[in-house]
Amino acid sequence: MANLNWPNDLLEWYSYNKRSMPWRDNPLPYYVWVSEVMLQQTQVDTVIPYFERFITKFPNLELLANADLQDVLKMWEGLGYYARARNFHKAVGIVIQELHGKIPDNFDDLRQLPGLGDYTAAAVASIAYGQKIPVVDGNVLRVFARFWGIKQDIKTNSVKTKIFNRLKTVIKPVESSDFNQSLMELGALICRPKHPLCPQCPIQNECIAFEKGITDKLPNVKRKAKVPTYQYGACVIWHGDKFLISKRENDVMLGGLWEFPGGRLDGKHNLQKQSYELVKSVTNFEFQILKNSYKIKHTYSHFKIELIAFKCELVDTESSPTRMIKHCNDLRWITFSEVINYPFDKATLKVIDQVARE
Ligand code: SF4
Repeated sequence: MANLNWPNDLLEWYSYNKRSMPWRDNPLPYYVWVSEVMLQQTQVDTVIPYFERFITKFPNLELLANADLQDVLKMWEGLGYYARARNFHKAVGIVIQELHGKIPDNFDDLRQLPGLGDYTAAAVASIAYGQKIPVVDGNVLRVFARFWGIKQDIKTNSVKTKIFNRLKTVIKPVESSDFNQSLMELGALICRPKHPLCPQCPIQNECIAFEKGITDKLPNVKRKAKVPTYQYGACVIWHGDKFLISKRENDVMLGGLWEFPGGRLDGKHNLQKQSYELVKSVTNFEFQILKNSYKIKHTYSHFKIELIAFKCELVDTESSPTRMIKHCNDLRWITFSEVINYPFDKATLKVIDQVARE
């Protein structure tokens, strides 16, 4: 590496420009871990209120390990990528039961815990414990594809390895916690995905993309395939002042969250009939569809859904409300005031919002 002035320039910029964040202002290993799990795929501004609520509810590892997963998911409601919460809860249980309550202080041991990939393990090891290991996520790849003028696709393993290995050398003489956080901060505030703020950049004078005037050409990222849209149907079945919700199994997408019974439709035939037959087959309840329906759209990471939920009423009032159903490990009849007791995914919350406004 020809010139290594830039790490110090970056660190100096960071010391004046770093944003206050609860886990940054008080970097206890538990706080750093919570924040790094929440920050995957999620912006800092979105995470801060979630982090604060989470730490208020589960101020330490023991309380989190002993909490019911449903309560953990409720704290995560709306944040998405719920496998993060399930794995985190499992990992904290292992720390309490098998590691005497001590969060591992190094990358290799952190990496053994459920849900901790290379990035999160490196972030916790470096930020909480000062281990000299670089963090390489999408932001860091973008910054260094520009800074080092790397033209290959940044999603490839060879580019990730190249950047990781170069940063491993760079991080050796510097304070690793601040260095890694300064990279994250530079990616978030200055070297943004679109329209990087090069005139304000502390490492501009060594940046190849800036020098060559190709900051808008890098990084090279293969275009994502267009995400498909699927049609989903559900039934909001009323019984007096209560409606029926079902819990998804733990090991599927949105696992452990609650929803209105329903599922994916073929998108071609009578949506009402298909939804009715689908819900009838899994609940075995006798119910009829009423006039109203609720339509929402929602985007997940790899697909979009259009969900139509039909307002229904129970006909077979002799049915046991606690009856188990296929593919779901629980059912509940709840009133509106009980919605706050259950974790729902965002699409279901949108339907609940429409039902509430009727
Ligand atoms: S000079 Fe511009 S492109 Fe280069 S690292 Fe700084 S913000 Fe990114």
